[in-house]
Amino acid sequence: MILDAEIKAQLAQYLQLMENDIVLKVSAGDDEVSRDMLALVDELATMSSKIKVEKTTLERTPSFSVNRIGEETGVVFAGVPLGHEFTSLVLALLQVSGRPPKVDQAVIEQIKNLKGTYRFETYVSLTCHNCPDVVQALNVMSVLNPNVSHTMIDGAAFKEEVERKDVMAVPTVFLNGEPFASGRMSLEEILAKLGSTPDASTFEEKDPFDVLVIGGGPAGATAAIYAARKGIRTGIVAERFGGQILDTLGIENFISVKYTEGPKLAASLEEHVKHYNVDIMNLQRAKRLEKKDLIEVELENGAILKSKAVIIATGARWRNLGVPGEAEFKNKGVAYCPHCDGPLFEGKHVAVIGGGNSGVEAAIDLAGIAKHVTVLEFAPELKADAVLQDRLYSLPNVTVIKNAQTKEITGTDKVNGITYIDRATGEEHHIELQGVFVQIGLVPNTEWLEGTVERNRFGEIIVDKRGATNVPGVFAAGDCTDSAYKQIIISMGSGATASLGAFDYLIRN
Ligand SMILES: Cc1cc2nc3c(=O)[nH]c(=O)nc-3n(C[C@H](O)[C@H](O)[C@H](O)COP(=O)(O)OP(=O)(O)OC[C@H]3O[C@@H](n4cnc5c(N)ncnc54)[C@H](O)[C@@H]3O)c2cc1C
Repeated sequence: MILDAEIKAQLAQYLQLMENDIVLKVSAGDDEVSRDMLALVDELATMSSKIKVEKTTLERTPSFSVNRIGEETGVVFAGVPLGHEFTSLVLALLQVSGRPPKVDQAVIEQIKNLKGTYRFETYVSLTCHNCPDVVQALNVMSVLNPNVSHTMIDGAAFKEEVERKDVMAVPTVFLNGEPFASGRMSLEEILAKLGSTPDASTFEEKDPFDVLVIGGGPAGATAAIYAARKGIRTGIVAERFGGQILDTLGIENFISVKYTEGPKLAASLEEHVKHYNVDIMNLQRAKRLEKKDLIEVELENGAILKSKAVIIATGARWRNLGVPGEAEFKNKGVAYCPHCDGPLFEGKHVAVIGGGNSGVEAAIDLAGIAKHVTVLEFAPELKADAVLQDRLYSLPNVTVIKNAQTKEITGTDKVNGITYIDRATGEEHHIELQGVFVQIGLVPNTEWLEGTVERNRFGEIIVDKRGATNVPGVFAAGDCTDSAYKQIIISMGSGATASLGAFDYLIRN
């Protein structure tokens, strides 16, 4: 039995929601993965009379396609979609059977109107928490539009193919055989990349806002909800609704919720914001702010939005090393997400740059997969908590190098090594390895405010106890500010503060 009793019980409930018969067309050999895949498919068929199974030969073996009776949908799973991809499988079964996907009608229309042929292939690892969103989005597109097909490929089951195509990060998506994108993407982002984003003219008609929030992470979402609940005209502009939590796996300190996962919390945030009358402008980036009579915010697409008050909640992003080789080999051996990309470095030698909590956690995690992990720390000592350091030093396949200044990440078409300077002796050293995980903290997304809003030497926006900045009517909240600590619950609290501060400002002016 490939599914345990608890999962089977849950699955049985989902399968009851199936609307019409479907057929799984299976391409199997006599290898071990094929046997597991057949076991899974047979188990599904015993659980629902709506699921039929047929043998066939597909482009990859082992793989299976999920089809309507008499009609190919183009949804294929190569490998065994368990782990994080199990949900993708369940959703594919339901959606192919006729259950409508939970997607806005406007997006459904956008998908149906796509012209041309789109043959997507997504390489995943079953432990990657960013992969299912991409797989599920492309499957929805495949189900809704006959010109779109999508194959999920488990890299671990197709190692030779992964090596041949130089896939070194997951998810990596190919479109019609050419590299298309890497990393987490929403359905809307994929559609935008295919060329269907709203241009500036869509925004020209908008009346001025009372409160305009820039940023759709925990801080921005909270600020927008607090403003909308006052009954004032509220808008939110976000480059990527959800923010950093989209890249977070387990969250255990979001008080009152013992355990949740980032993407799940992001979906709840969006649902909560949508419950109110908030104009959400997702996938839009602000590039300039100017205080005139009203405050004007210019977007990258050229549109200018006007508002009486603005709340900046643009958060932070991974800090880059800024050494030669880092940008060139991004996704070709240089990685930032150990949970996602770690499995692709199975049996290889990798380095983790950074000896803080995130670096040491990454190294512990990677030591279970990689052959060897070298931790490079710039300072004379690691900065991670003592419990993490103890665990790190107990591992036999980890080397820690302190006082190490990374000089270059080397490679030809992908990473083959790293060069560092021993800061104590000035000597240069080179280590041959295949992967580098950069874990050196975060930088605030505030460069676009240069010359307008006051920031400290780290680039963090300086705010007072009401979240107000030096510019009247402009407030800020969350990781982009000079708050002492950066956490979800703290950014939400400051989002609420900034919103109440802005409301107070509006009443007085
Ligand atoms: C791997 C990882 C694990 C973490 N784990 C935890 C944890 O377990 N518990 C915890 O409490 N915290 C955790 N954190 C920290 C937490 O995620 C952050 O403190 C929190 O997300 C900050 O929220 P924010 O809204 O201020 O910013 P962000 O989450 O960074 O959101 C910023 C928003 O602004 C948008 N944006 C940026 N620039 C622009 C622009 N120019 N125009 C328009 N929009 C823009 C972004 O797209 C995004 O929507 C973790 C962080 C990381 C990276």
